[in-house]
Amino acid sequence: MSSRRPKNIPARPELLLILGSGLTVALIVIIVAALLIREHASTLQAAKRSTTNITQLINADVLRNVELYDLALQGLIAAKQRQDLSQVSADIQHLVQFDQSTAAPFKGEVLLLDAEGDVIADSSTLQPTARNFSNRDYFQAHIKAGQPALFISRPFKIHCDCEQVWRMAFSRRVTGPNGEFAGVAVATMRLAYFDQLFNSLTIGNGSSINLLNNQGILLAQQPLMERDMIDKDLSERPNFKRMLREGSGSFQAISAISGKERLYTFTNVGSLPLIVVVALSSEDVFAPWKRAAQLTGGATGVLCIGLLWLTWMLRRELRRRFRAERILSELAATDALTGLANRRILDQRLRLEWDRAQRSTEPLTLLMIDVDHFKAFNDRHGHQGGDEALRNVAQVIGSNIRRPADLAARYGGEEFAVVLPDTDAKGAAVIAEHIRSGVEHLPRVAGDERPITVSIGMNTWDKRSRMALEDLLLSADQALYEAKHTGRNRIVDAATL
Ligand code: GH3
Ligand code: MG
Ligand code: MG
Repeated sequence: MSSRRPKNIPARPELLLILGSGLTVALIVIIVAALLIREHASTLQAAKRSTTNITQLINADVLRNVELYDLALQGLIAAKQRQDLSQVSADIQHLVQFDQSTAAPFKGEVLLLDAEGDVIADSSTLQPTARNFSNRDYFQAHIKAGQPALFISRPFKIHCDCEQVWRMAFSRRVTGPNGEFAGVAVATMRLAYFDQLFNSLTIGNGSSINLLNNQGILLAQQPLMERDMIDKDLSERPNFKRMLREGSGSFQAISAISGKERLYTFTNVGSLPLIVVVALSSEDVFAPWKRAAQLTGGATGVLCIGLLWLTWMLRRELRRRFRAERILSELAATDALTGLANRRILDQRLRLEWDRAQRSTEPLTLLMIDVDHFKAFNDRHGHQGGDEALRNVAQVIGSNIRRPADLAARYGGEEFAVVLPDTDAKGAAVIAEHIRSGVEHLPRVAGDERPITVSIGMNTWDKRSRMALEDLLLSADQALYEAKHTGRNRIVDAATL
């Protein structure tokens, strides 16, 4: 199929049509894309808001709980430092030492260790069993750190008569009268506390709530992503490093555990070395948006394809119409037998060139051409032979005019006219002679000795002549008449009459 635009089909309406519908389609796509992007952003915003609320809830609960533990430890240390307490009975001492520790949920043991790590007081019994915890991380940390700050241990399991459960310890340094290390007050808590807290909050499938300490150790996770996740060291994970750096906030990243994209919202728990992380599955968060986007995108696609299809149909119709109009206008301008311009076009062009010549004062020549003895020719060769001869004469006339502004037309019957703008008598005489001799030398019709000939009357308007358009025609006709009378097959210039 040719990609060239058919001749005479105006580019402008077609271009406007393509440009208009192209722009409309582009605009529709841009608007829909902008709406979808905005919807995506607000979905993300809503997810961030709800996860931030969850982290705040956890934050508050954990802080309050840790505070209860800290109060128990501080009460224990304060009791230990009171000299007068040694005078009361062991029962009362125990009561005073551990009176603050009853309120904390999921509480394990509350112990007081001396500077060697030996248990000297136990919340569960008046007579503590001989145990030593000097190898525990919290004990070592308190020896090293001079500050009596609350220390939160790594998760651990202890062997006891009950089932083995994960625990963690909150501890504070006991300082002697001279600021020396005098032991550690420690309270353990079952990590089931976090599981219960996290389970009470609803988050979507494939999402999890996590608690880590600032060393990257996972303390709790609900639901558990993998087995044995508790106490796992995540400090080398890029996501954890980013959380540690930023303190609190949200970001989307690939999970090292599941390999899927997640929306992480995280915050530090007060000033404690703990970080709460809510990890939502991006797939889950954006599932409703994705469904809506697919639906809207599909509908927009169908709409745009429909629009483009309509444009294509319209363009085809437009081309068809222009082609038909061109053929019609060509038919209306052409003489059917000879293919030269018809009388109507001759009149229009002659008037046009006349006016132009008046303005430019350039000469204008008109040739009137008549086939000699054509009636007799017709009689000899029949009407069909006559028609063929007329076509041949027309072909000779057409091939002898070369400038775009020149016009050869069939005047009527066996008469032709040639309009030669910007051509003086001399130049026109040369063309007329070419036509005359060209016709004379046409191949003879079989069995006919006599050649077809034409007589030509010519008339030129120039700036010195004083004549109207009608005179141009009339004098050219008179010159033709003269050519007939003086023997035919010749050219007569009206100026010589
Ligand atoms: P002259 O040399 O004086 O011009 O003689 P002529 O016979 O050519 O002139 P006339 O006006 O007497 O005859 C013109 C003839 O041309 C008459 C008509 O039969 C013929 N004719 C006109 N139009 C057509 C046409 O379209 N086809 C054919 N075959 N003949 C035509
Ligand atoms: Mg005639
Ligand atoms: Mg004639």
